[in-house]
Amino acid sequence: MRKRRASRVIRVGAVEIGGAGPIVVQSMTKTDTRDVKATVKQIRQLKECGCEVVRVAVPDMDAAKAIVDIKKKVSIPVIADIHFDYRLALESLKSGADGLRLNPGNISDPEQIAKVVHAAKEREVPIRIGVNAGSLPKATKKKASVVERMVDAALDEVRLLESLDFDLIKVSLKAFDVPATVEAYEAIAKKIPYPLHLGITEAGLPWAGAIRSAVGLGILLHEGIGDTIRVSLTTADACQEVEAAYEILKSLKLREHGPTLVSCPSCGRSETDIVGLAQIVEERLKGVEKTIKVAVMGCVVNGPGEAKDADVGIACGKGRGMIFRKGEKVKTVEEGDFLEALIAEVERV
Ligand code: SF4
Repeated sequence: MRKRRASRVIRVGAVEIGGAGPIVVQSMTKTDTRDVKATVKQIRQLKECGCEVVRVAVPDMDAAKAIVDIKKKVSIPVIADIHFDYRLALESLKSGADGLRLNPGNISDPEQIAKVVHAAKEREVPIRIGVNAGSLPKATKKKASVVERMVDAALDEVRLLESLDFDLIKVSLKAFDVPATVEAYEAIAKKIPYPLHLGITEAGLPWAGAIRSAVGLGILLHEGIGDTIRVSLTTADACQEVEAAYEILKSLKLREHGPTLVSCPSCGRSETDIVGLAQIVEERLKGVEKTIKVAVMGCVVNGPGEAKDADVGIACGKGRGMIFRKGEKVKTVEEGDFLEALIAEVERV
């Protein structure tokens, strides 16, 4: 794992992003922002499952104005996602948005951007330059690749903001194409000091989308690149994005967050329904806030040894199972008691 890239620290509301701080987990609401009740409800759900900064879509003035009421009822920073109309950014700032996301591909008039930057500066609100491969500004160079166009779009916008004496900047360069996304972030990481928000855009349905995001974000995070992440998934359950983000960060030992389930794939040695047991254990662990590693293993031969860094585990044999802690045997239980004995041990720990 490479040393984390040194980036500047910015604040989005009360949350610091960049420097040596934790990689911040973000998500975006899927509700109509004008529906304050539904949006507040979803932001609260997202916070419950670990979301630290949330973005809301601002398609019109009513959505921009709704941020006032949303902000009164939620405790995590709210970022206004702006496209096409700079006045929506100005209104969102008036409404108390903690951050703005501007897409250089669809607000390009420097005078309009300057108005937004002045208003953001007055309120010390950061701006994310959110480049998206699907909405890039016109190429200035002939035959420029998507990667070059993404990087150039971000750099042009960074220079514009800097020329306006504004440095509360965060940058993202998202594409669906994982190699292109990785290349773009690697390139921009060397050219600017600002924190980077990572994401694979339009990554797909939860299973494929989480894998695609894990590959792209995993490569970058392993290279020390990235200060905040969002996993974009096509799902009605916004918490799935947050859970996937934490799984990526936990896999790289960059964050701790709730329980982690270690479970063996099962093989010819297993004499119990290890798949069913692991699924129930995962369900039962939902809502556990403490950082704990729980193992569900299919046999007593290799189970405890394979999962010796787990805090608690069960290695199942024929009709009986061994409860273990840190690879050491604690007790033996009958098959009908596997689940409850394991959960009781989790609660004890
Ligand atoms: Fe097979 Fe046992 Fe390993 Fe599970 S723990 S994969 S059952 S050897």
